[in-house]
Amino acid sequence: MSWGLNHWRRNWILQHEEIPATIWKKVISLRCLKGLSPDELKRLHELVLLFLHAKVINGAHNLVITDEMRTTVAIQACILLLNLNLDYYDDWIEIIVYPEEFILDYKYADEIGVVHHAYNIASGEAWFAGPVILSWQQIATQSQTQYAHNVIIHECAHKLDMLHEGANGCPPLHANMSAHTWHDVFNQAYADFCRQIETRPDPIIDLYAAESPAEFFAVLSEGFFESPLIIQQHFTAVYEQLVLFYRQDPAKRWASF
Ligand SMILES: [Zn+2]
Repeated sequence: MSWGLNHWRRNWILQHEEIPATIWKKVISLRCLKGLSPDELKRLHELVLLFLHAKVINGAHNLVITDEMRTTVAIQACILLLNLNLDYYDDWIEIIVYPEEFILDYKYADEIGVVHHAYNIASGEAWFAGPVILSWQQIATQSQTQYAHNVIIHECAHKLDMLHEGANGCPPLHANMSAHTWHDVFNQAYADFCRQIETRPDPIIDLYAAESPAEFFAVLSEGFFESPLIIQQHFTAVYEQLVLFYRQDPAKRWASF
């Protein structure tokens, strides 16, 4: 059992927590959920109830978090776990939502050991064993263009990646998967992508994927759920590895929708 829940406790939560039907009807129309069967939606509904019971979603800068906002965040976090164990999210509790983009203030040492202070503007961040931080503006205005962004899926993919040797683009693989194949496929696709963007400034996926293997995995995970047919077509071998890892096939859902 996961999230420290025994069977009795899990059932108690499912019987006593609820999501207003009007909100549920609205959130299940999100693009990343396209084509889910009634059975999958039922399991997702349970996951969202358990997720909302276990996690704390706080607004920053006086942002008031409504039930609809909580459900919107939870359902997109839970789609990654539809066919995985709930305990993949066990090592963190809090989600902090800023109204808009926020400033990351951090220090780093350069190659000769001099420590620098830097600032970045971000729309999402996942801390190791700490909170997920999101921009509501980003969530509410996520692109509906050919390649759609999804900051929640992106940051939750980082959380899964961090479960195995830190954020390096390789989450904990299942027993039926080959680490050798995963590394071969991802390293090749990442190298190809980095080479392609030198001559193609407007790539099929977010340019940010070239930042590191960890960002490549997170951006491809966004695409896996948001634009699966594009990822399947342009990153076929990566798509097949993601099907094995997430234990779901969104392109198949989309094709039969
Ligand atoms: Zn990232």
